[in-house]
Amino acid sequence: MVADLTSDISESQEQETETNSAHNNGAVFRPENCPRLVIKIGSSLLVDQRGQVRRDWLQTVAYDIAKLHQAGQQIIVVSSGAIALGARRLNLPRGGRASLEDAQASASVGQILLSQCWAELLGACSLDSSQILLTLDDLEDRRRYLNVSATLDRLLSLGVVPVINENDSIATAEIRFGDNDRLAARIGQASHASGVILFSDVDGLYTANPTKDPNAKRIDRVEHIDNSTEAMASSDSASGMGSGGMASKVEAARIATYSGVNLAITTGKRPSPLTMFLNDGAGTLFTADESASAHKTWLAGRLTAHGQVYIDQGAVEALHDGNSLLPAGVCSIEGKFNRGDVVDILDQEHNLIARGLIEYDSEDSAQITGKRSQEIADILGYEARTALIHRNHMVML
Ligand code: GLU
Repeated sequence: MVADLTSDISESQEQETETNSAHNNGAVFRPENCPRLVIKIGSSLLVDQRGQVRRDWLQTVAYDIAKLHQAGQQIIVVSSGAIALGARRLNLPRGGRASLEDAQASASVGQILLSQCWAELLGACSLDSSQILLTLDDLEDRRRYLNVSATLDRLLSLGVVPVINENDSIATAEIRFGDNDRLAARIGQASHASGVILFSDVDGLYTANPTKDPNAKRIDRVEHIDNSTEAMASSDSASGMGSGGMASKVEAARIATYSGVNLAITTGKRPSPLTMFLNDGAGTLFTADESASAHKTWLAGRLTAHGQVYIDQGAVEALHDGNSLLPAGVCSIEGKFNRGDVVDILDQEHNLIARGLIEYDSEDSAQITGKRSQEIADILGYEARTALIHRNHMVML
């Protein structure tokens, strides 16, 4: 069965390559261009309105994975659905999202059902699967991040399909991803994937909310994410079942593309959504920035900053020219942080410009704000570094 399907996809891929692959978003994610791929499946696709797994549909996804696996592609699945499934079993209101305790209990019950389903459906296609449950901290701490990376590498080299979800049963409100879009982007980064595809109940980023504005148009490609991209993303989740709306998808795209990973948002509301997307490319592609170094990609993908540094226009230009941030260009500082913590760098209009590891704690940083480098030793009473944030520990956003 799987062998037959393999020939189907290679034939249809050949035809597609001949026709319009240059402009086809799907071509970017095919095995020959994307040896390692992360796919994220949203709750609204996996679980029906009665709280049951949409098994027939999921089987088509498992076939898709098997076909691509045979064509040499390594695939990691980020699967939502634990909370929605568990809430149904426990008869909890609001899909298990009425309180953090309900979500934690629902996830605990639902996760075991979800894993069982993936193991069965991938197993039926002769694929081994594995389960990894992560919290935000596992990827924010560099050592643990590298550990996750090594585990994924080993699993993939053994031909296993890792199935990942957030460990919602132990995550608390402050330290959770809360949506699997950003988790998928971080996994794309940690696994050194070439692409991440977010399958959901929306088929891409629109110029306005398509459910409210009939003139809204889907955007085919985004080369650089800026404030206007973010303004287009409304944060409503169409189904009300998952937690990630368009805003979290654009944030995921920012994490992925800054790490050199292509990311697509596409519909999962059709059978064999992966094969279909690789062929027709219907969705929005956020193209990878190829220039990022490993240290900087980790920095760009971090979700928690300990403070905010507001800088003047001259400093904004200096940073864009590749310089370090000096105290003289800083207007104000917020937050409590230690030396070496991650801080966000913003302009006077509060646009996020860059992120970096700060060289001073918050008290010392406040004392030298706006001061010239020569004055710093006198103010602090010790011979210090001239830069507040060195360019090697900074990533432009
Ligand atoms: N981790 C959640 C779950 O499995 C889903 C998060 C999301 O909706 O993106 O239910």
